[in-house]
Amino acid sequence: MPSTVGKVIRCKAAVAWEAGKPLVIEEVEVAPPQAMEVRVKIIVTALCHTDVYFWEAKGQTPVFPRIFGHEAAGIVESVGEGVTELKPGDHVLPVFTGECKECRHCKSEESNMCDLLRINTDRGVMLHDGKSRFSINGKPIYHFVGTSTFSEYSVIHVGCLAKINPAAPMDKVCILSCGVSTGLGATLNVAKPPRGSTVAIFGLGAVGLSAAEGARIAGASRIIGVDLNPKRFDEAKKFGVTEFVNPKDHHKPVQEVLTEMTDGGVDRSVECTGSINAMISAFECVHDGWGVAVLVGVPNKDDAFKTHPMNFLNEKTLKGTFFGNYKPRTDLPNVVEMYMRKELELEKFITHEVGLSDINKAFDYMLKGESLRCIIRTDG
Ligand code: NAD
Ligand code: ZN
Repeated sequence: MPSTVGKVIRCKAAVAWEAGKPLVIEEVEVAPPQAMEVRVKIIVTALCHTDVYFWEAKGQTPVFPRIFGHEAAGIVESVGEGVTELKPGDHVLPVFTGECKECRHCKSEESNMCDLLRINTDRGVMLHDGKSRFSINGKPIYHFVGTSTFSEYSVIHVGCLAKINPAAPMDKVCILSCGVSTGLGATLNVAKPPRGSTVAIFGLGAVGLSAAEGARIAGASRIIGVDLNPKRFDEAKKFGVTEFVNPKDHHKPVQEVLTEMTDGGVDRSVECTGSINAMISAFECVHDGWGVAVLVGVPNKDDAFKTHPMNFLNEKTLKGTFFGNYKPRTDLPNVVEMYMRKELELEKFITHEVGLSDINKAFDYMLKGESLRCIIRTDG
């Protein structure tokens, strides 16, 4: 094959022309990577709620036409000036939030909230020159969270790419790009349940089930799933969730139900719903003296968290996390290794699979609540 390095690549991409309208498979031009950028051949991508949310664009800044997609795995095709850590042929996971390795957050062991490359959902262009690398007949098509993986090729800042083990199957580890790492890290890095402890998981979507997977890996002895949708309970059994509570089945607040079930409260709770009521319940149901609650869900704009300060004096701890506290470039390769060592199971998250030309089906599955993760092969 003739080299594509330094040239524009024409390839297929799923373009969102308008909010809420089906994506259209188009031939797009993908410009070569500029300074600190990498052009990646996307092998497989997956659909996450955040894509659907910004595609619907209800209440957010609409940026169209746009190429969505941020959970994926691919192979480096070429690199721009100044890129030394990656070379053509390397296997990578794109991440919606980056790690520049230079800023005070990246230099702090405690933070993953990079100043330069922290998620920005309104920006549809590259940092280097404020331009898009995608176009159709010279008209720019905008990027999404710096990844735009619903395309056979994408240009991504080097700080938003984790270099992974080339032996890792891309059609499995692609889901570590976002949702699964978020839930897993919320439990393993932030809640840190001691072996034998009791963990409550609020919300049994892909993020909550990943948090449950973290609890299983940490050796929790009881994993209690809390969800308003009883259909979620069947699936959750595969994730080691052994007890279920539906707040709708009780007349008292769910935190009281959990406190009674666990002789004073759970040791850890992880909230993965986005509901402010669930956030408050998740905090109030932890045991005094040592209980830790971790918030993961993204609340509504006007929500406020209300609880009695006595809960803090009684030594309940409230925390929150972004991307499971993982630093994308430093930590994701190790999460991939957890999968390779068979400590972490990913197969059970992948409920559906389609080719790029059927990408709208993936949106249907998610909108109907049928899929946990639908993977999309770009060659299909
Ligand atoms: P999902 O919609 O698949 O799952 C959410 C579940 O919560 C559903 O099953 C729903 O029935 C349940 N639920 C809603 N309200 C509830 C309540 N009051 N009590 C109990 N259960 C309730 O969503 P998901 O993809 O798993 O994502 C979960 C949350 O995590 C979302 O808010 C998402 O935006 C957020 N998220 C956060 C980060 C981060 O870095 N902090 C990253 C990714 C996603
Ligand atoms: Zn940084």
